[in-house]
Amino acid sequence: MTHTDSFGLQGATCVVTGAGSGIGRGCALALAEAGARLLLLDLNEAGLSDTRKQIEQAGGHSLIQRCDTSDPDQVERAAALGERELGECAVLVNAAGILRPGPLDALPLAEWNKVLSVNLTAYFICAQTFGRQMRQRKRGALVHIASIAADHATPFSGSYSVAKAGVAMLSRQLAIEWAPHGIRSNCVNPGLTETGMTAPFHTDPDIVRRRSAAIPLGRIGQPLDIAQAVRFLASDMAHYVTGQEITVDGGFVRSVMATVPRPGYERP
Ligand code: NAD
Repeated sequence: MTHTDSFGLQGATCVVTGAGSGIGRGCALALAEAGARLLLLDLNEAGLSDTRKQIEQAGGHSLIQRCDTSDPDQVERAAALGERELGECAVLVNAAGILRPGPLDALPLAEWNKVLSVNLTAYFICAQTFGRQMRQRKRGALVHIASIAADHATPFSGSYSVAKAGVAMLSRQLAIEWAPHGIRSNCVNPGLTETGMTAPFHTDPDIVRRRSAAIPLGRIGQPLDIAQAVRFLASDMAHYVTGQEITVDGGFVRSVMATVPRPGYERP
């Protein structure tokens, strides 16, 4: 693979959580393409191996480690391994997440806690743990995968939306607290994206057609669409960008006025 270093990521140690599938895998591949050395974390070992294989096929290098990102001890061990093998972390992409159905009126507390723990608390644990390595090098970038659900209530996955809203504020908070250490923190908010998480939404062609039709750019997002924005925020190209969110959704959340009838204002 030939690398250009316009991203400033050549040889940089980048950590991606949730790298065994979907958006995390897409981010790992995009960062590897920019010459990064990768520490990839996930609960799914088979998925991690597949990601590593794809990176190797493209000429890149990665280290994989099974890790529950909501467990501080496991994250601490993974961080020590990464530092020993690859050097201090320059970039952390928080992508590991779960989506579970459940109306708030009947949601068991254990379900609420599980979603908050993986989708929000684990982002904090990973930021704190890998942030220590960034502070040592006086430089770093955090990119958190939140969601359009951070700003838009989503029926029957309220714990997820609340967790994602928390991720947005966690990111802004870190941006301000750690700016003096040269560490930036930003979010990417994916829209409807085709991954393992959303596979059940994409088995019926009619549902795929209706979901695609709801998106101004006319198609469901792919992990690479999201990864391009993540790589930008992780890179030197974004060296003056912190505390921000980039929505990558094909125009979906900006299209609310296109969904209501407006006689006289419609294409004949
Ligand atoms: P995915 O299911 O394909 O990938 C998520 C990965 O996270 C899986 O490999 C899973 O094993 C891993 N994971 C789950 N819990 C973990 C834990 N405790 N420790 C370590 N790894 C764990 O889903 P995806 O769509 O690629 O999701 C990636 C991120 O993007 C998530 O944060 C998700 O909320 C967010 N997101 C997805 C969409 C979408 O439409 N797919 C939209 C907005 C935001």
